[in-house]
Amino acid sequence: MSWFSLFMVWFAVVVGAVFASEIPILFDDKTKLLLGRIGPPSKKVIQEFEQAGMKGIRYHEVTDAERAKIGAALASLPDLQQRILFEHLDRLSFLDGMPGEGTALTAPSGNVGSYSITLRASIIDESLSDFLTAKERRLFSAVKDGPEVTVTAEGQNALPFILLHESTHVVDNSFGIRRGLSHPLIVHIWKGSHDLKDPHSSSLVASTGFRGQSKIPVDHAQSIYDAMEKSPFVSLYSTAAASEDIAELVAWYHEGQYFNAGVVIEISTAQGKTIKRYKPLEFPRVVERYEAVKKLLSMPSSAMAKSD
Ligand SMILES: [Zn+2]
Repeated sequence: MSWFSLFMVWFAVVVGAVFASEIPILFDDKTKLLLGRIGPPSKKVIQEFEQAGMKGIRYHEVTDAERAKIGAALASLPDLQQRILFEHLDRLSFLDGMPGEGTALTAPSGNVGSYSITLRASIIDESLSDFLTAKERRLFSAVKDGPEVTVTAEGQNALPFILLHESTHVVDNSFGIRRGLSHPLIVHIWKGSHDLKDPHSSSLVASTGFRGQSKIPVDHAQSIYDAMEKSPFVSLYSTAAASEDIAELVAWYHEGQYFNAGVVIEISTAQGKTIKRYKPLEFPRVVERYEAVKKLLSMPSSAMAKSD
C-alpha cells in the first residue's frame, strides 16, 4: 500500500467520523410527518395567549438540535397518541416570551376535528423535575422557616410528558371520553366536566389553586398530599377538570411504564431534611385506574366518536 493509499484510508476514516457525529437522528415516517407540522401558530392562537395577559409572546423557530429533541419526544408517545396526532394535529408551535405558568395550549384549529398544540419553547430544554416543582410550588405561599415542596422525576425531560399530556386531550376530544361522563376513568369521580363527585369535592385535595382556590401556606402542604395519597388523583393538577384528570393519569402512567420514571413528591425542611415523601404512581386508588388507562391506550382508531 502506497503512502497515498494510506493517506486516503486515514482521510476516509477521519471524514467518516466527522460526518457520523453530524448525521441527524433518523425518525420513522410518522414522526417525520409530525415534525413537518411544526410552524408558526395561527393568529387566533396568538390572540388567545394575548387575551390571557401574555403580551410579549413571539414565534420560536426551532433549531436542528431542538427538532431532534422534539422528534425523540414524539417518537416516545404511545401508539394511540401518535395515531391521533397524525390524524388530527394541524400545527405544532413553540413560543418565546411565555411566563412559566402558561406552558401549553391545545385548541381546535380551523379545520373540523383538527387541533393545534402550542408550547412554551423553553420547555424543550427543561427537566421534568424543574417543570413539576415550579408548577407545584405556585400553589403554596412561603412561611418563615417553613417546609419546601419538591417534585423529582430523575433524568426525565419535560417535553415528552407535556406532549403526552396535550395529545391525550386530543384523544379525549376525539373519543368523546369526558363528554359521556360514563367512561370508567371518570364515572366514579366526576359528575360534570369541572364538578367533582363526593367525597372528592370536599376533600383537601380539591382545595388548591388548581380548583380556583387561593394559595395555601406551605406548612399545610402535608395535609394536602396526605389527602391526595388516599385519592384517585395522580397529581393535584388532575383535580382541575375531568379532561386534566384523564390527561394527567395517562401521561403519568406512560412515564412510569415507558420511561420508568420514579416520581416523588417530597416535603422537606428549609434545611433540606426530608419530612415526608409521596409516590403518586403507587397510590392504591391511582393503581386501581390503570386497567382503564391500558384499555384506553389499546383502543383502535375506529372507536373514535365524531370530534367537536
Ligand atoms: Zn391539560
